[in-house]
Amino acid sequence: MSVAVVGGGLAGITAALALADAGRDVSLYEGRGWLGGLTHSYRHGEIEVDNGQHVFLRCCEAYRRLLARLGVTDRVALQPRLSIPVRSAATGRTARLRRAPLPAPAHLAGSLLRYSPLRPGQRLRFIQAALALRRVDPSDPATDEQSFGDWLSAHGQSPRAVSALWDLIGVATLNAPAPHASLALAATVFQIGLLTKASAGDIGWSLVPLRRLHGEPALQHLSAAGARVYTGARVESVRPRGDRWTIGVRGDEHVVDQVVLAVPPAAAQRLLPAGLPFPPGWAEQLGSSPIINAHVVYDRPVLDGPFLATVESPAQWIFDRTAQAGEAVPAGGQYIAVSLSAADDLVDLPTAQLREMLVPELAKLLPAARGAGVLDFFVTRERHATIRQGPGSGRLRPPPGAVAPGLAIAGAWTATGWPATMEGAVRSGEAAAAAVLSTVEHVPAEVAR
Ligand SMILES: Cc1cc2nc3c(=O)[nH]c(=O)nc-3n(C[C@H](O)[C@H](O)[C@H](O)COP(=O)(O)OP(=O)(O)OC[C@H]3O[C@@H](n4cnc5c(N)ncnc54)[C@H](O)[C@@H]3O)c2cc1C
Repeated sequence: MSVAVVGGGLAGITAALALADAGRDVSLYEGRGWLGGLTHSYRHGEIEVDNGQHVFLRCCEAYRRLLARLGVTDRVALQPRLSIPVRSAATGRTARLRRAPLPAPAHLAGSLLRYSPLRPGQRLRFIQAALALRRVDPSDPATDEQSFGDWLSAHGQSPRAVSALWDLIGVATLNAPAPHASLALAATVFQIGLLTKASAGDIGWSLVPLRRLHGEPALQHLSAAGARVYTGARVESVRPRGDRWTIGVRGDEHVVDQVVLAVPPAAAQRLLPAGLPFPPGWAEQLGSSPIINAHVVYDRPVLDGPFLATVESPAQWIFDRTAQAGEAVPAGGQYIAVSLSAADDLVDLPTAQLREMLVPELAKLLPAARGAGVLDFFVTRERHATIRQGPGSGRLRPPPGAVAPGLAIAGAWTATGWPATMEGAVRSGEAAAAAVLSTVEHVPAEVAR
């Protein structure tokens, strides 16, 4: 049976690998010149740059399965025990969110009770609200209609507690501040990542540029599994033809038995055949939310440790990228990326203005940056990093899997039970592949007899 997978991001890669491993005749079509989708790398001068810093959690089991299938688990770091240094730009003090060897949710209680960006009363109220969040049912459609911000204020959380703790995690994982985030998705993130299993929230990151973690190994493994991979192959149409499908690409038509459409919502809306139960304009309603990264090369080390989260600062999260960047970072220098999620107000600012804003901010946060020379400063902007994960977004997210006979959808934007993340993308790819594989193979009548 032949299957066309359209889209070579993590969702498409996962589906294509699962189908090729199961013996299907797989062709993967990717519009760009590389695999990996929203997780990719390019060269800025001699420096290897990722389009944006990516992290995962120990609980991202589907994503970690993909890493294992690609043979790259030795190319990521995974904390043995969750530990997040959090520095205040106002006071320069560093608090640490760290798990103790206790079952959840007690594993975080000690570090929360000492969390200096909040006053003692705020810390206690945070713990009470976190315990209440454990009881919220994310699968109830009514939960998704509520704003996380409203829920937090109804549970005694001050603007200070929201910005210094809830949004520290929430903005980075939901790509939206609490008032604009769905309660269902926020509850999912906090319940799975922090409140249910102690080890779930341990943080992982790539030790190599993302292209060497996803896109390049995927190309190798897909080819080895017998799949054909076409890059630079933008699919223009997907149409039913009898009980088969026609894929239009570069003016040619390819006929296949089944299709997995693993493209972002706007492309899916264009390509899905008419007559499916999607509300008009659903992709625009789902919308998208930007993430930008400011990349700064210093002439000396400025950041201790692999990353730093910040409060009372626009800098959000800062990552050391020196080792991933290759030899091009001058000896003795350091390359850091400042990851700015929910960047609606920043995405259109000129690089010079971002530099004017962020370099002094980094000097406030990182004492060693005060006298340091900035050798390079540049910005990567991803306008459609994730869907807009606001209240009511769940209604617009169809489940991954079959949408018509022989046609399945995948993508981090589908209803995977997760926010739009690498884990969601891989889960959706697994679900789409399972839907394709569950279709009984058509056996010609004379053979069946
Ligand atoms: C800057 C940034 C930071 C992020 N940080 C994190 C993080 O820390 N942790 C995390 O878990 N997630 C993070 N994410 C989100 C994560 O990258 C995505 O959720 C995930 O990679 C999406 O995978 P996907 O396969 O669903 O979609 P995509 O990666 O968008 O893949 C879809 C593919 O389809 C292709 N395509 C589109 N139209 C066509 C067509 N007509 N024909 C052929 N191909 C087509 C596209 O070129 C693309 O390659 C981040 C995203 C960004 C941008």
